[in-house]
Amino acid sequence: MVHDMKSPNQSNESQVPLQPGFPEWLRVSFVEELPLCVILKDLDGKFTYVNKQTARLFGLPAEAIVGKTDFDLYPNELAQKYWDDDRMVIQSGQAIEQIEKNVTVPASRIVKVRKTPLRCRDGKIIGIEVLFWDVTAHQEAEANLEQERFLLQSLLNHLPDFIYFKDLESRFLRVSRAHASRLGLSNPADAIGSKDSDYFTKPYADAARMDELQLIRSGQNVLGREEHACWPDGSETWVATSKLPLRDEGGKTVGTFGISRDISELKAAAEALERAKQVAEAASRAKSEFVANLSHEIRTPMNAIIGMAELLANSGLDEQRTEQARTILESGECLLRLLNDILDFSRIESGRVELDPVPGDLSNCVQGAIRLMKVQANEKSIKLEARVNLATPDFVVADFVRLRQILVNLIGNAIKFTAQGGVTLSVDHVSRINQMVTLQFAVSDTGIGIPNDKLDVIFEEFEQADKSTTRRFGGTGLGLAITSRLVKLMGGQIKVKSQTGLGSTFSFSLTFPVADETETSEFGDPNKASSSSQTSSEPLRILLAEDGETNQMVATILLEGLGHQVKIAHNGCEAVQLSDTESFDLILMDLEMPEMDGIQATRQIRNREYGTNRHMPIIAMTAHAMESDEQRCLEAGMDAYIAKPIRQNNVFVTIENLMKKVKSRSSL
Ligand code: ADP
Repeated sequence: MVHDMKSPNQSNESQVPLQPGFPEWLRVSFVEELPLCVILKDLDGKFTYVNKQTARLFGLPAEAIVGKTDFDLYPNELAQKYWDDDRMVIQSGQAIEQIEKNVTVPASRIVKVRKTPLRCRDGKIIGIEVLFWDVTAHQEAEANLEQERFLLQSLLNHLPDFIYFKDLESRFLRVSRAHASRLGLSNPADAIGSKDSDYFTKPYADAARMDELQLIRSGQNVLGREEHACWPDGSETWVATSKLPLRDEGGKTVGTFGISRDISELKAAAEALERAKQVAEAASRAKSEFVANLSHEIRTPMNAIIGMAELLANSGLDEQRTEQARTILESGECLLRLLNDILDFSRIESGRVELDPVPGDLSNCVQGAIRLMKVQANEKSIKLEARVNLATPDFVVADFVRLRQILVNLIGNAIKFTAQGGVTLSVDHVSRINQMVTLQFAVSDTGIGIPNDKLDVIFEEFEQADKSTTRRFGGTGLGLAITSRLVKLMGGQIKVKSQTGLGSTFSFSLTFPVADETETSEFGDPNKASSSSQTSSEPLRILLAEDGETNQMVATILLEGLGHQVKIAHNGCEAVQLSDTESFDLILMDLEMPEMDGIQATRQIRNREYGTNRHMPIIAMTAHAMESDEQRCLEAGMDAYIAKPIRQNNVFVTIENLMKKVKSRSSL
């Protein structure tokens, strides 16, 4: 800049340039004021000129610098370097430019230096012109940028994820190496400017474009979305994708960027797990269906055995034969209990047991359980009593059938494992918060107790504290497994405390809503279904729809024994017909019959009644003891339900209750 610029119009030094341009006098002041350092040196390295900025830098007046050399101003080594650089410029006649550290200032700065030969008019080199300026800030910014670039490149080059940046037209601005190679490119730079449509099928590329447009429009991030990707090489993967709008510093959306991770393996594992779960569930369903079917098959002949044995035992035989018939009856009942346990357990295990809470009288339930077990306790001369705390509310909402089952199970065990002393069922009031009451139930005995190391396992299915007791006491080890699961289903947890030789206490707490006495209905309260008189209050004409001959016989004798008159229909069709042509007070309907089953027959009868005010009372009889059966029966329009094998007392109570209801309805 300062070195002599020859212009074609300049013939000698004194002449003022004619063409528009920088006047000579101005040149000097311009250079003086430049915000960079300007130095001229002669061939010996002596400073012949320094501008103001340079003087400021050295902290000396210009006059004090002129005439000196670098050796006067800098450490020897540095001065030598400057000397060598100057020599190079002078000898080669070429300018050099370099970045170097300047140590003249306390905090060393980075400067850019340009050295050019200084020529006189004839072109001879007469010295050297040095320009340098501070580039520290620029250098630092550059270094920062370089670091950023390095980090970004590490990410893009080495992460196995597919990372991309796109502009508003969905053209790639940058892709990760993994993404490029998925696109079939060896160099990520080759992707720049290209679009999805250059690699993917049109529908796929269009969908991606729509997605990005939506992203740009809505400005809403897509995070972790699972997508199915079909790659140009024909492979397909599942990816988890996050996409965001790419915004500039002013917040303006300038494109999109995203990252996709291959989750194919994860997905495959999840699918395999789901399939395995389905298979397991299907197997479990099949198992419980199988158990239900098997139990049905066993129950049908059991029905006959128990029914016949009961009739036989009550038929006025001599004492010995009556005793024999009773043994058949008791063994049959025992077998049936076992069957019920297995069925119950398999249903609880497959999660198919649902509670049916109704408002009812709690003490009735407790007394009902005691009544039921009294005979057994008496037989062993064991005292059995219930202690119900006075603070306990009378009426609660609970599944009394299941609650009684739990209590009966625990009392049954207590009696079974107690030789002398007593069994106590206690109900204590734990707390009451608003309408919710928590009660503690406990069954204590003075029996053989349970060894400490067995306290946990007895709640497992088919586990017994002492296998040898099976021979002595019978049992399968299902009772507590069922009981503990039922307690859990009701929201409690069963606990046991025991001391061998002294006795055991099984306890659990349950929380129930408190009920109003007016809410409780006799119908909803199974505790009340019991009567001692076994003669019907009124002889009925009953249509018995049942295909099995033995069952027909058992039911007929039983019903006639209660004082009723029986007509038989051999299948659903006959039942529908007969109930139309003859008059009956009640139909006992088997569920499974050839030609037409009990459900269909009931539907037809109800259809026929539709629009009239007639309603034939229908009671279902089924050997299936699945809960869903009861539901099916009621949905088809049946009024009540008896599980097979039908027992005299059960049939009696069910018929009596139903007829009472029918009467009260017709008297309305
Ligand atoms: P089981 O049909 O064998 O009675 P449970 O599941 O009802 O099956 O009980 C499992 C085992 O727990 C019993 O075999 C017995 O060893 C032990 N057990 C249960 N209740 C009592 C009790 N009140 N006193 C002593 N042992 C008991």
